[in-house]
Amino acid sequence: MKKILFVLFFAAALNAFGQPLQPAGVLCGNEIFQKIIAEKYPHFKKNIDQTFEQARQHAAANPEGAQTFDINVVVHIVWKDAAENLPDSVVLDQMRILNESFNRLNADTSNLRDVFDPVAGSLDINFKLAAIERVETDKLFEISLTDENLLAEVKSTADGGSDAWDTERYLNIWVCNIQPLSIFGIPVGQILGFAFPPAGLSNWPAGANAPLPQHDGVVLDFRTIGSNNPNPLFGLDGNLAVIKGRTPVHEVGHYLGLRHIWGDGGLLGGPNDCEQSDGIEDTPFANAQSSFDCDTTRNSCEQVETFYGVDMPDLVENYMDYSSESCQNMFTKGQCAHMKAVLEGPRIKLTEPLSSVQQAQVMRWKVSPNPANTTLNVDFETEGSTRRICLYSLAGQLVLQASAEARRASINTSALESGLYFMQIQDADGMQVQKISVQH
Ligand SMILES: [Zn+2]
Repeated sequence: MKKILFVLFFAAALNAFGQPLQPAGVLCGNEIFQKIIAEKYPHFKKNIDQTFEQARQHAAANPEGAQTFDINVVVHIVWKDAAENLPDSVVLDQMRILNESFNRLNADTSNLRDVFDPVAGSLDINFKLAAIERVETDKLFEISLTDENLLAEVKSTADGGSDAWDTERYLNIWVCNIQPLSIFGIPVGQILGFAFPPAGLSNWPAGANAPLPQHDGVVLDFRTIGSNNPNPLFGLDGNLAVIKGRTPVHEVGHYLGLRHIWGDGGLLGGPNDCEQSDGIEDTPFANAQSSFDCDTTRNSCEQVETFYGVDMPDLVENYMDYSSESCQNMFTKGQCAHMKAVLEGPRIKLTEPLSSVQQAQVMRWKVSPNPANTTLNVDFETEGSTRRICLYSLAGQLVLQASAEARRASINTSALESGLYFMQIQDADGMQVQKISVQH
């Protein structure tokens, strides 16, 4: 489920080492993931495939029906160089992009070719930022083909990363500097991110012989976040990549059960051809992934597609292709039905409201009384010089802000209207958000 940029470089390097190549010489990171999972954790691979098939059947039986899904998101920023410690504004912009993309509210939906308009889909998802965790590290995060490392260390505080919040109830997104992929020490590609697909989460196999539940979530390179990211991403060819926050959309698509639209064939996983399918009916066949371009003339599989009754061009506008982020603007209805089935099935706990007990357990401070009348007290465990408290209305309007150095901050709420508010507290370890109530 990794997304790799500059795969042609990879292929060229493989050529240099005399390795056989599949047609077009394209290697896909998803296959690296699948290869590692299939060889190292066969039980887990079986679990993923079963869960995918169950979601497919559920989606076919329940294609319609609107439901709002609230998903709490924790973003872990694990940084070594200061540039990797992304400002909140970049994370918040990424949250906006996730919400727009999954709800099909992005401004560039009109760029979709007319022939695909009838299959453009949307979900009713509300990704809510629960916290930004910031961890300074001295580690380098490198995915290795040889020791089959899936960056477990970025998900572990003890190993220089950041421990997950309850992965059944939060979407955990780890952001770090993913080192260039190398073969024999020669950099050959850049992995932008990867995600664990759902695998019947409550039934994860126990024991060390499988990926652990606390590893569930999405890992992203820090340069892929937001449309306002100050860090440019260059290819090994020196060209600047277009980044519009769509790699995280792609990876969250994997996290919610989607596969690449060309069907994930290829060098490591078997043939890459028109016979491979992503299991979704309304994504047209493609013989391989796009080459990070927006080639709308591409029609790699000349065959009548059952769903359409005619031969269709490749769907480069789809988030689950490897096309340029400048033309990606849609999920299909079939993909949305599949993600909905995942949210009603293996990831159902993600969408359940968090109880106040659960929230209290994970916050780094205590708020009382809640509901508040004229005063709201925030009690910290220690004094701190860099804390900032902001109160937002449900509509997102900032209504109050304060700094808090002492162990107790007392906030005057007498001028606020009765109702619910989001309290955002930023300290040296990151930001957390909590819902509070004011009642007069
Ligand atoms: Zn992918």
